[in-house]
Formats: sequence, C-alpha cells, structure tokens
Amino acid sequence: PIPVYGVPGTNQERTFIACKPDAVQRGLVGAIIARFETRGYKLVGLKMVWPTKEMAETHYKDLAKKPFFPGLVEFFSSGPIVCMCWEGKDVIRQGRQMLGETQPLASKPGSIRGDYSIDLGRNICHGSDSPEGAEHELKMWFPEGVNDWGKTIDAWVYE
Ligand code: UDP
Ligand code: MG
Repeated sequence: PIPVYGVPGTNQERTFIACKPDAVQRGLVGAIIARFETRGYKLVGLKMVWPTKEMAETHYKDLAKKPFFPGLVEFFSSGPIVCMCWEGKDVIRQGRQMLGETQPLASKPGSIRGDYSIDLGRNICHGSDSPEGAEHELKMWFPEGVNDWGKTIDAWVYE
C-alpha cells in the first residue's frame, strides 16, 4: 500500500483539496468536485468535517504569524468543510492552477476562484501548495487513510 500522501512525481501523486465553509454554504461543493473529476483526476478521499479552532490552526500553522491568522482560523472553523484527496499526474501543481490565485480578483475566468469568488477571505477553496504541504495536510485530515482503488478508464486518460 502507498502512503496516504501518495507518490509525488508519479501518476499516484496526491493533493489535499478542501471546499471551505463559504463553498459549502453557497452550494458550490458539486461544482468544485466536478472540475477535478472531469479533468480526469481520481477521487480517493472525501468527507465533511466541521473543523475545531485547533484543527484550523494546525492546518494553517505556516501562517500563524500573519495578521490575518486569527480571522482565518475563525472563518475556517465557522462551519463544515468538504475534505478531498485527489490523485493523478502533477495534481498538486495542477490543482493550484485550477483553484486560481489566492486573491480572487487576480484569478482568471476559468479558474475556480475566478469563476465563483470575489474577496480574499472568501475564496471558497483550499489546495496543497507543495509535496510537503500535501503530506502534512493529508496526514492531518485523513488519519484513517484513503481509498487505493483502480480506475478502469485510466487507459483513456493517460497514454
Ligand atoms: N488570506 C487572507 N488574507 C490575506 C492572505 C490570505 O484572508 O492577506 C486567506 C485566504 O483565504 C487564503 C488563506 O488565507 O486562501 C491561506 O493563505 P495562503 O497564502 O496559504 O493562500 P492559498 O494557499 O489558500 O492560496
Ligand atoms: Mg496556502
């Protein structure tokens, strides 16, 4: 069995993508999932979690010294989020591109943030920014592990 964070640099690379509380409230969960699913990536983990403040702090620990950190933690723990683990070639970097820029106003139409959001603190989605980030986040949000299933159409997605 491969580790929960997958094998970066291969077709079994994995990333942590989350629909933040604003995406859940706005009914955008299905739209976000559809972007990754139709691209050809494989969903190996999916669940709804209402983060505690402690979970939000651990998730965003690299930002602890930023002035917006308290507000970010408050917001991230304000309602349930949808946690996902997506697998496939280059999925960490591609996932970030599919999300768009951190600042929605700088995000191109066609990206998730560029299509569905306006304000920085309401940018609806999260994605791991590196293999190290993906490892930290996937171990944290999926301690029970994910599903190593075989996708039979992969021969039509990968050459
Ligand atoms: N954020 C904020 N104010 C800022 C910078 C970031 O509220 O000045 C929020 C924003 O919602 C962002 C999150 O904090 O998505 C995490 O910041 P990061 O720099 O990691 O951006 P991301 O990786 O989400 O693009
Ligand atoms: Mg980040």
